[in-house]
Order: sequence, then structure tokens, then C-alpha cells
Amino acid sequence: MINLPWPSGLLAQAAPAEVDYIANSWLGIASYLIAAALFILSLKWLSHPRTARRGVRAGEIGMTIAVIGTLLIYRAVSYKWIFIGMVVGSLIGAPMAVWMPMTAVPQRTALSHAFGALAAALVGTAHYYTLYGDAAIDRFTMAILAVEVLLGSLTFTGSLVAFGKLQELVPSSIKGLPNQNAINFSILGAALVVGIWLTASPMQHWLFPILIILGLAFGLCLVIPIGGADMPTVISLLNSYAGLSASLMGFVLDNYLLIIAGALDGSSGLILSIVMCKAMNRSFTNVLFGRMEPSAGGTSDDIYAGKVKSATPEDVAMLLEGAQRVIFVPGYGLAVAQAQHTVRELATELERNGCTIEYAIHPVAGRMPGHMNVLLAEADVPYDQLKEMDEINPTFAQCDVAIVIGANDVVNPLARTDPNSPIAGMPILNVDQARNVVVIKRSLSPGFAGIPNPLFAADNCLMLFGDGKKALIELVAAMKEG
Ligand code: NDP
Repeated sequence: MINLPWPSGLLAQAAPAEVDYIANSWLGIASYLIAAALFILSLKWLSHPRTARRGVRAGEIGMTIAVIGTLLIYRAVSYKWIFIGMVVGSLIGAPMAVWMPMTAVPQRTALSHAFGALAAALVGTAHYYTLYGDAAIDRFTMAILAVEVLLGSLTFTGSLVAFGKLQELVPSSIKGLPNQNAINFSILGAALVVGIWLTASPMQHWLFPILIILGLAFGLCLVIPIGGADMPTVISLLNSYAGLSASLMGFVLDNYLLIIAGALDGSSGLILSIVMCKAMNRSFTNVLFGRMEPSAGGTSDDIYAGKVKSATPEDVAMLLEGAQRVIFVPGYGLAVAQAQHTVRELATELERNGCTIEYAIHPVAGRMPGHMNVLLAEADVPYDQLKEMDEINPTFAQCDVAIVIGANDVVNPLARTDPNSPIAGMPILNVDQARNVVVIKRSLSPGFAGIPNPLFAADNCLMLFGDGKKALIELVAAMKEG
């Protein structure tokens, strides 16, 4: 029989009686290999709307194979508790997946991260007390355990606060204490000291609960002052912590797949946070420790007074009748109004008139990356009509009508023109360069950045005030009548 390098064995050394570790289980190892490959392919496919569904399936199949492989490898573990865990998890997860609306996906994701991080922290704690409680723990293992439990606990409370803020259970008005950053760094510093102390003296059992409490407190204090709309970036960052924690758990358990999956999760979460920050022209420190302050530039009155032109659905229908090329620009309001199917209906109506349709997708339109892609995919909008910012921007000048639906910051020209604006330098969709612009929103209220938008007062812009879905339904009706 061939002896595979599997595992050298923290777990195998520590608990040979409890776990019948089948070191030569080819089936288990093969399943881990296939699952790891599927996870990598899943991430690759998820990066494009055309292949995203395949990516989700690959991830699901990979996870199923991983679970089966794990049950094969750790054969003697009691199935009773695993079964109970699966039933409880399914009872919570299935209703969440079925009934949570699309607009609630950011908070649902936060909740999933909270559970994942809690699992990592609990497994680390169980290992410390159950497997190693009385034995001498080597320092390397202790350091890994300490970081795993610290990351798991801070991600747990941080993600719960993120969920609470996005679900409006925690009021957004709570901005933390005056010296919040100093408090946060003190807690983190204390946690690091305790972690190092534990690593040096793993048998100081009383330090372990302190480490957990400091981790929980740090997660709470870090996320509490952050505004609701910055949460997607924070959630993505917490996701990378949870992934890292899971990866460390893999080292403790000698589980190669957990190391790989955790590393993939951790790195993809980090990359996503960087992409979001770049698309908003903000830094990590600005998101985590700063706040978006309103611009010192012009007030709404200066910008809008006497210049905003309001239109009826009939006016817009007339404008659209002669249009050869129309670009839809969806934003957060499209998601709020759930107007994705109605946009598609309007697009079909326009296509019937021989008009070319495209959708301009800003990377941070909405409240999470890919928000608009997901919504439009739900309405079966053809993928080739979805154009990314860099591709569509140079072509706005050749567009007859740009229809902005519930987007605001991502089309605000102040990003280009006002260096004092909180969105200064943020790449935007150059909608103002289109021949005609129609903006559908309920009022002149600002978007997430809290600043007025000169686009609404531009000569080539008409405002169609109203809820996104209702306005589009009236527009489709006006076009059909016309
Ligand atoms: P904004 O938040 O700038 O604006 C949304 C607009 O939608 C509002 O002005 C609102 O105006 C309108 N709206 C709300 N409800 C409706 C409705 N029912 N019907 C019609 N309109 C409606 O959205 P954008 O998508 O333009 O920009 C996203 C912002 O979020 C950016 O500032 C970005 O930096 C930030 N952000 C995005 C992240 C991401 O990953 N996508 C992550 C973190 C932050 P009114 O009330 O008048 O209707």
C-alpha cells in the first residue's frame, strides 16, 4: 500500500483514538482534488455574467463532493451530530435563500459570513480545550489557533453588526464614540498581546476566553461606526478574514481542502474589496476609519434652482420614438423599485422600432458589486447588451437617449469637475455626454454620497419623477399608445 503524504498530523497525533483517519483513502483524496479544482473554476466562471450560473453550479457541486469526501476520510466520526447539524443548518438556510428578496442579498451575505466565522472560532476553541487542553501544544499550532479564533470572533460580531445596519435593525445614526479609532486600536493591541502571550505559554488557559472576548469586542467596535452604504466593502473585507480563519483551521485540522478553500475565499474577498475601493476612488483606511463628508461646493439650490426640466411619460415617449441608439443606466433605485423586468419590456418595445439597446454597468452601481448584473440577468437581458464602464464611456456622445433609472452618484459629473467633492476622482459613467438624458427617480434627493448632481440641471437632461417601476410602466404604455 502506498503511503500518501496525508496528513503529517496534528489531528492524527493528537487524537488517534477519536478519529479513524484513513490516510490512504484514495477516494477521499480524489474527491478533495476534484472539489478544489471545482472551487477554482467556480471563481473563474463567476467573474463573467455569461458564465456566472455555471460558476454557481460548479461551487455547489464542489461543496457537495467536499462534504462527501470529508465524511469518507473522517469515517468514524459520529454521523448523528453531523445529521442534526445538517438539518438545523438547512432549516435556517433554505428559507433565507428562498424568501429573502434580491435587494437584501448584501445583508444575507453578511449573515452567512457571521455563521461561517462563528464555525471557525468554535472549531478553534473546541480544539484548544478538547484536544489540547491537557497536552503540551507547540507554539506554531498555538499561534495558528490564536489567529484563527481572533479572526473568527471579530468577523462574527462585525458581520452581525453589518447585517443589523443593512437590515435597519441597528440605526445608521449610531456612529460610535468620539475616540472610536483609538478605542479600536487599543482593543486590537490588547488582543495581539494576549495572542502572543498565549503562543508563548499555551497552558495559560485563562487567557483563551479573554482572546475571544477581545476579538468579539473588536469586530463590534470596528463596524459600528461605518455607514450602511459602505457595508458591502466591509462585508467583503470580513469575508476575506473569515476565509483566512477557515484556512488556518485547515492547518489545525490537517485538512488540505479547507486550506485551499479558505485561501480562495480570503483572497477573493480581499480582491473584491480592493476593486470596490478603486471603483469608488477610496482607500481601505477611508472606508474603515473615515466618513464621507458632504462637499463644501454648491448647495442643491445653487445647482438646481430654475434649471431642472420635468417631463411626463408622454414627452419621453415622443423623444424615444426617433431614437436609433438608447443606453439604459441602472442604479440603486432600480433595485429598490424592482424595475428590472419593466426595463426589459421598454427595451423590447424600443427594439421593435429598430432601436439599438445597451446597458451601461458601473462597477459600484447599487449596493454590492455585480448588483446590476444580477438584477438584469433576472430579467433575461442578453449579456451582450451589458457594457462595462470603460467600454461604453467613449460612446455616450453617439447615443440618442441615455435613460438613467435610479442611479445618481455613478453618473455625477462633479466627480470629474469638483476636486473637493467626496466622490472626486471616482470614475463615473459619462451620461452627460449623450445627446439627450432622461433621469427617472422620485425626487432631487441625493444618492449615497449625499451631494447634489448637476446632471439633473443640465440642458440636455429631462427629469421623469416617480418610482422607477411605475414611471417605466407609464412610459411603456405611452409608447404603445403613440
Ligand atoms: P445612489 O445611491 O447614488 O442613488 C440612488 C438613487 O436612487 C437615489 O438618488 C434615489 O433618489 C433613487 N431611488 C431610490 N429609490 C428609488 C425608486 N423606488 N425609484 C426610483 N429611484 C429611486 O446609487 P448609485 O447606484 O448611482 O450609486 C451607488 C453608490 O453606492 C455609490 O456612491 C457607491 O460608491 C456606493 N457604494 C456601492 C457599492 C457597491 O458595491 N455597489 C459598495 C459601497 C458603496 P430618490 O430618492 O429621489 O428616488
